Amino acid sequence: MLLSHRIRIDATPAQCDYFSRAAGTARRVWNWAVAEWQRQSAAGMRPNAMALKKQFNAIKYAHPDWLDADSRPWLRTIHRDAHAQPFASLAKAWTRYFAARKVGQPGRPPRFKKKGRCRDSFYLANDKFRVDGESAVLPKIGRVALTEALRFPGKIMSATVSREADHWFLAVQVEVLDGIALRRRTGDSLVGVDLGVTAAATLSTGEKIAAPRPLRSALRRLRIRSRRQARKVRAAKAAAGISGSIPKGTRLPRSANQLKGKHPLARLHARIARVRADFIHKLTTRLCRENQAVAIENLHVKGMLANARSARSIADVGFYEIRRQLQYKARRYGTVIVLADRWYPSSKLCSACGQKNGTLTLAERIWTCICGIPHDRDVNAAINLQRLATGALVAHTALPVASLAATLDTAAGVVPAAGGEVTPVRYEHGQQDDSGQEKNGVHICARF
Ligand SMILES: [Zn+2]
Repeated sequence: MLLSHRIRIDATPAQCDYFSRAAGTARRVWNWAVAEWQRQSAAGMRPNAMALKKQFNAIKYAHPDWLDADSRPWLRTIHRDAHAQPFASLAKAWTRYFAARKVGQPGRPPRFKKKGRCRDSFYLANDKFRVDGESAVLPKIGRVALTEALRFPGKIMSATVSREADHWFLAVQVEVLDGIALRRRTGDSLVGVDLGVTAAATLSTGEKIAAPRPLRSALRRLRIRSRRQARKVRAAKAAAGISGSIPKGTRLPRSANQLKGKHPLARLHARIARVRADFIHKLTTRLCRENQAVAIENLHVKGMLANARSARSIADVGFYEIRRQLQYKARRYGTVIVLADRWYPSSKLCSACGQKNGTLTLAERIWTCICGIPHDRDVNAAINLQRLATGALVAHTALPVASLAATLDTAAGVVPAAGGEVTPVRYEHGQQDDSGQEKNGVHICARF
């Protein structure tokens, strides 16, 4: 199983400088390839990534665009993986795009990367570096200090160096033997999880898990620092005589104070991201560790319907990350992830009698069904999702019968007929086949 460990690099200023230049090179080569692709396509040619790479290799040490002020090829100072990998990534991106277009799905071709707007990163092939305890030896710059040793034993496949605020990270991909990668679950429950804005997660057991506190105070600080930056941008606009939106291509002069405020703001963003990531990691690990099946909504329907703009974007980002982590952790714990269809009315169904309350509004946090049972909106939704998990498990023949029967008792009752997706499964006891994709007419199954 391919696992990735992202480790912070304790980099010296000279190393940071190399990392920035290598990431800049990767971005510039990417942009060169995208531009060349667009030019050749417009000219009626049929470009492909590998031909572009050949074309680039022919000019990279000679063309004036790639020479420094003393007409020396500056690419020689950067390890070649940084400027070769963009072609491999682009090849994949174009393949994906054309495959999607063929089946009529909307897709976007690879686009230009803009400095400061894209992720700064570059690639290292596994034969070009080694990890050595709490340090790593990288091409061109030698030994760098890491803040911790590599967590996983196994064959190192590749690594990516990337920047987050003012720190650089080394993400090492390791092929880990299943005997080590697979984890034992501590429980065999079935749980439905309702993700929301007020409580970050509500479980079908009735437990409500709140978003971490530091996030709230950090968000307040974020507003203050963003406002400070915005004031400086406004001042710069006023000085340049621009009112309204800034015309495309305009570069506002940046004051010394504006540049000074940039880093604290970026650091705060990074800190909030870390606090949130920590929370999501702990939540998703716990869900996979304690349950043999976890059901969540496939899309954050409620978040999308809600009007609170800021809350929406926060919840949405968190949701996709939660789903992503559940899916890869599920493989390690042998847990089944059931994604409720986006139209599955988890909030509106009465979990006691199965009646649908079509008039339920978003504001109603507590409601009473016509059968007389009062419901907490989120807990009710979580219970309905749990039913879906039960239904998916029944359909899922790969599960050991004994544990299935044991857990079915806890979720006896109606199994809603609406659809869900069953994700992939790799069981501890070694059953690893296509059973996760079984179709039974009710559940659309897909392997992720
Ligand atoms: Zn009812």
